[in-house]
Amino acid sequence: MLGQMQDWPLLVHRIIDHASLYHHDREVVSRSVEGPIHRTTYGEIGRRAHRLSNALQKRGFKLGDRIGTMAWNTWRHLEAWYGIAGMGGIYHTLNPRLFPDQLVYIANHAEDRALFFDITFAPLVEKLAPQMPTVRLYVAMTDRAHLPDVKIPNLVAYEDFIAEGDEHPFPGREWTEFDENTACGLCYTSGTTGNPKGVLYSHRSNVLHGFMAAQPDAMCLRNADTVLPVVPMFHANAWALAFAAPMVGSKLVMPGPKLDGASIYELLETEKVSLTAAVPTVWLSLLQDLEKTGNMLPHLNRVLIGGSACPRSMIETFEKKYEVTVVHAWGMTEMSPLGTLGTLKAKMDDLPYDKKLDYKTKQGHPPFGVEMKITDDENGELPRDGKAFGRLKVRGPCVAKGYFRGDGVSSFDEAGWFDTGDVATIDPDGYMTITDRAKDVIKSGGEWISTIEIENLAVGHPAVAEAAVIGVRHPKWDERPLLVIVLKQGQSASREDILKYLDGKIAKWWMPDDVAFVSEIPHTATGKIQKITLRETFAGYRLPTAAE
Ligand code: AMP
Repeated sequence: MLGQMQDWPLLVHRIIDHASLYHHDREVVSRSVEGPIHRTTYGEIGRRAHRLSNALQKRGFKLGDRIGTMAWNTWRHLEAWYGIAGMGGIYHTLNPRLFPDQLVYIANHAEDRALFFDITFAPLVEKLAPQMPTVRLYVAMTDRAHLPDVKIPNLVAYEDFIAEGDEHPFPGREWTEFDENTACGLCYTSGTTGNPKGVLYSHRSNVLHGFMAAQPDAMCLRNADTVLPVVPMFHANAWALAFAAPMVGSKLVMPGPKLDGASIYELLETEKVSLTAAVPTVWLSLLQDLEKTGNMLPHLNRVLIGGSACPRSMIETFEKKYEVTVVHAWGMTEMSPLGTLGTLKAKMDDLPYDKKLDYKTKQGHPPFGVEMKITDDENGELPRDGKAFGRLKVRGPCVAKGYFRGDGVSSFDEAGWFDTGDVATIDPDGYMTITDRAKDVIKSGGEWISTIEIENLAVGHPAVAEAAVIGVRHPKWDERPLLVIVLKQGQSASREDILKYLDGKIAKWWMPDDVAFVSEIPHTATGKIQKITLRETFAGYRLPTAAE
């Protein structure tokens, strides 16, 4: 017997309809690519998304068409997502930080039919256009006055383009109706080896993920919040914020192209932001800026940190010095992306702060809708005792069941588990701790050393800005850890200082065999430490212990 409730498809554009009806005057503030701060509302964004959707249809775009966006977080990018999804198109976010040949590969693999781009990227798009034969329309996300002087075929200014579409006074009327499992968004993972792989979100997975993200023990999103997603819309679906914020009508502050500490601080302050989200490198830059200026963060209530491991010292600084609650989160493009969030449970209320910090430093526990387990190499499930570590596998309604066009099948098993490629422990309360990417693990004499744990401790040293640990060949132990360090500007520390600082905080056999000081650590297009490049740089490195 079936239930007798309505089959109301979970379609993404219903979110902007809801926001534009019930939170119509709630502001969306952006630092525009042209420069000035731009202010609009959900009501206006809803209307313009409808126009954009209609303009696309008038130009012959249809259900299932992939439409690229190469753009910063702004109100126009938001309108484009909803407008594209509303006509059954698939917004395909292109990360401009990727190498040009990777971008060409991705656009061709996706067979993008149109490309919306910010004028920042006009020279790049001009270079790529001849190599992207499927793209038949280029929309520069600006007005006619700011159209760049470039040779791009079939180029139109965004404001002219949406003026081609009709406006509809009643939200919900003009969207195309289709099944909630219809594809909605496409985002390629920035894999460090092999070609990037496409993750194809559905309307249903995006809506469910928005609900999931907004929950109290996840992001705790409220209408009263002012939310600044520093995390770009071209990285892992902007961590659900482009859906979850309009769902509840939070005010949105979009940072545009300026993601440095000082620019972010300015927005946090002038717009009285209560919640913000980004990878640790962004917060490193903000904290350094605050240290220099002596500024405080009086309005900010909580900061979501993920994408790579958040060091304990960073959590402590935010919470103790600036009285901002940190929520450490873990996720992946393949998971929409949220997997776990480090909010505390009731029984932890009375713990001393240091013990709370132990939990907050972990990657967190999964919201309803994410299943998680760890396995050994034979796929046997390992205990949830906080000690055993193994390959982390996940499943759920917002987790990919395959990659676009059948790539990477070996990551998915028959029971629906997706192998994340991360190595982790899970404790009895469900808090998961990432110890490494499987391919970055150091095997010393057959035993595993967690590079992430050593890195997190090393950045607690007052002179250290950033740290990375890699395995270097060793004649006796196969591999031993080398700690690579970037010092804070104007600070100094010796190899011995750093090793002394680590002494007693980790097992003796985890102690790095050497410390190398560098001026910069390479990062991937999504802000992660690029260990593959570091390993190449230090390939012939001779450890002082190698002669023993
Ligand atoms: P992406 O799909 O680009 O978001 O990358 C996902 C990967 O980033 C994960 O598989 C992890 O290896 C890493 N990652 C994300 N969040 C965290 C975190 N909080 N701590 C450690 N690693 C993380």
